[in-house]
Amino acid sequence: MITLQGICYDEKSSFLKGPRKAPPLIREFLYSDSSNSFTELGTNIKTFDIQDTGDFTPTEYFDIQDITEKNCSIGSKLITLGGDHSITYPLLKAYSKVKGPFEILQIDAHGDLYHDFEGDPYSHACPFARIMEEGLATKLTQVGGRTYTDHQYAQAEKFGVDIHEMKDYDLAKLQFENPLYISLDMDCFDPAYAPGVSHHEPGGFSSRQVIDQIHSIDAEIIGADIVEYNPDRDVQGITGALAAKMLKEIIGKMVN
Ligand code: MN
Ligand code: MN
Repeated sequence: MITLQGICYDEKSSFLKGPRKAPPLIREFLYSDSSNSFTELGTNIKTFDIQDTGDFTPTEYFDIQDITEKNCSIGSKLITLGGDHSITYPLLKAYSKVKGPFEILQIDAHGDLYHDFEGDPYSHACPFARIMEEGLATKLTQVGGRTYTDHQYAQAEKFGVDIHEMKDYDLAKLQFENPLYISLDMDCFDPAYAPGVSHHEPGGFSSRQVIDQIHSIDAEIIGADIVEYNPDRDVQGITGALAAKMLKEIIGKMVN
């Protein structure tokens, strides 16, 4: 079984707000008549038990931990629709209690490893520093990065992060030894493919590259989040449709 939850939260976005509006729109695109329910690898996601707990609007940051604890049912796999990337820390605080040990594949233009950002240790620029400090995952692999600073390289070294920067990207190099949690930041894509994000960072992935990346995973996928879709910045629903496609392909890989 898969549990689906939406977290409507963008209070920790440093530049623009908007990702709080994303979860209901991603669902709309997923179930839109413009496409069908089969993944590219031949799984009909309609035939699987997806328990949708709906959308939750947190008042406080750590409400995200509480609602995730409530929504996590034993034996189920969790998919979360964000929201900005700050949600990944409180949700993994909850999820690591019922699932573990696992490693993380973060697909993102950014490292999100700042010790704090503009004074906030819970900014969307910081979740993976918190996650690694607390040992919530056995390992962190980052793919698609193209914005590392000296501070972030130092943080990555401190936490033993396996970095595959966009400029050096090679699909074949990724290996996972433990069950895997995928954290997909929509700004990993080139803005040409996904204009609906707060931070346009040119030089990113095509849609095809990330789909191939997901398909190539040779490990059990135990959870995922899709974050940073900002509908205010989207053009003709391009990014929303892509987020929904990624959701569908991730569900397909999870159940197989
Ligand atoms: Mn991110
Ligand atoms: Mn990012």
